[in-house]
Amino acid sequence: MKILEGKSISEKISLGFEERIRKLDKKPHIAVLSIAGDNASEAYIKKIKKNCEKYDIDFTLKIAMNQQEFIKYFEEVKENKKITGIMFQQPLPEKISDLINQVPPEQDIEGIGINNMGKLFLNKKDAIIPCTSRAVIKTIEYYNIDLTGKKVVIVGRSNIVGKPLIPQLLSKNATVTVCHSRTQNIKEELQQADVVIMAIGKAKFLKKEYIKDGAILIDVGINFENGKIVGDIDFEDVKEKASMCTPVPGGIGAVTNTLLIDNIITSLEQKN
Ligand code: NAP
Repeated sequence: MKILEGKSISEKISLGFEERIRKLDKKPHIAVLSIAGDNASEAYIKKIKKNCEKYDIDFTLKIAMNQQEFIKYFEEVKENKKITGIMFQQPLPEKISDLINQVPPEQDIEGIGINNMGKLFLNKKDAIIPCTSRAVIKTIEYYNIDLTGKKVVIVGRSNIVGKPLIPQLLSKNATVTVCHSRTQNIKEELQQADVVIMAIGKAKFLKKEYIKDGAILIDVGINFENGKIVGDIDFEDVKEKASMCTPVPGGIGAVTNTLLIDNIITSLEQKN
């Protein structure tokens, strides 16, 4: 089984970052808003901060104790003219998540607002696209995987992974099926798939009996098991049957973090 590692993809994407940042009219400055209490979120935010520091991107973090405080912080960052991009750390209640629609679409650096999502589904070039879904597509492109006529099954229908993947995969001429927690006969769906994309957050869920010989597997999941990070795919179990698989860690996650920086820069380039 070929391992589709993400480090080299990430290095390739980040090659032009310094030059692109130098050419911007305005210094990038992102604000990350979150509600306290989620350890996984805090670890992810630390990673984003470190990556921003690497490229001299200003970083403001606001951790609210409750929804009211979140709204107060949101109003503050929205009025701050120095801030070029706003990011909400999920999970958040829907009412709070929807606040992103109050900022101009070019400040929605995660591409989760109605405007960017609409543009994505209508194939508009200036859509800002959710980084994790882009990371899946970049991986497919980097390893020259031709999806034309292939059956791709996505497991997970979230706004940041499953849904934004649909138009991107259709653009690559794949036949797309989306499964979720209410899907009947998920095993039968998976057994027919040429490519499986797992994004459910259930450790080692996908075993070899769920896939066909030679399937290509992409693991978006990040789970903690006995103090270790593992994906939604049982990597050891599938390795004799699948033809290719992304590892966890070192696969999609590595590319996602780099694409957030790309989104931050792109949003300002579009404004220019
Ligand atoms: P989410 O919003 O919680 O959505 C999970 C999805 O999985 C839902 O659509 C849910 O179905 C579905 N699901 C849950 N259990 C299932 C089951 N047993 N069978 C079939 N479908 C099932 O999660 P998310 O934010 O998309 O994240 C998914 C995973 O990706 C998590 O492990 C997360 O940590 C990881 N992640 C990784 C990155 C990265 O950079 N690698 C970035 C973001 C997220 P329903 O809709 O029916 O509830």
